[in-house]
Amino acid sequence: MGAKIIISENSGFCFGVKRAVEKALITQKTLNKPIYTLGPLIHNESVISHLRDHKIAPVDVDSLSSLEKDDTIIIRSHGISKDVYMKLKEKELNIVDLTCPFVSHIQKKVNKYYELGYSIIIVGDPNHPEIKGINGWCDNSALVFKNGDVTISLPKKVCIVAQTTEKQENFEKVIYVVAKECKEFLAFNTICSATETRQKDAFNISKESDKMIVIGGKNSSNTNKLYEICKSNCKDTIHIETAKELPFDFFKVPESTVIGITAGASTPNFVIDEVLNKISEEKHS
Ligand code: SF4
Repeated sequence: MGAKIIISENSGFCFGVKRAVEKALITQKTLNKPIYTLGPLIHNESVISHLRDHKIAPVDVDSLSSLEKDDTIIIRSHGISKDVYMKLKEKELNIVDLTCPFVSHIQKKVNKYYELGYSIIIVGDPNHPEIKGINGWCDNSALVFKNGDVTISLPKKVCIVAQTTEKQENFEKVIYVVAKECKEFLAFNTICSATETRQKDAFNISKESDKMIVIGGKNSSNTNKLYEICKSNCKDTIHIETAKELPFDFFKVPESTVIGITAGASTPNFVIDEVLNKISEEKHS
């Protein structure tokens, strides 16, 4: 197989995920006892199992009663709501807050403008933990629009933010409606720079590619967005979590074929390397 491979320079762990994984491992090593993360630390099964091997296990909010006073709990990069934060405090847990600073910034903005009387609009997925957390800083009153689809009539005075992994075009779709319907509005483009760069790169590479491989967790929001972007430019785009899922016939292609590769922000480098190794093996088989 002589296909040309293009790999996105901006793939794999983003700043916030790298920070969370590294600090969790350091915390466990320092304390030298089992510690917990509130929900899986990142959307990647291989990393979660690596963390379990290092005595770092996920617990959900409903299972907090199983923890003892002074047990260590890590808040992951997605952040949490004010209510959940108070629950951790009440239980007197040792809280290690690894909320990504880009997400904390959104929570503060939402809290501030909610208290100033603005209705909050979030462009994002209402079921994503980051959005549930952000919504918890305005008493869960936010209007959340998925895929940029505004489905109801809007209040007159609004403050708009976006999920950090949202697509720029979805944010703009909402702004367009807000500009027509609302008398007073503040808009903060809170799509994080890591996401922006990754999405632009994925867009450019998929335009040049005949086939595209997107590597990352199936429940990872940012990976799914990369897949959508690549698929819109390159019909033959696949989304895989590990090298094992690479279809054999994906490599049975003419010499002139261009294959692009990108990976989500929660995809560790070793998973990307395994995919590259598998491609290289197929090349030489
Ligand atoms: S995608 Fe952006 S906001 Fe989310 S953890 Fe990574 S750097 Fe932080």
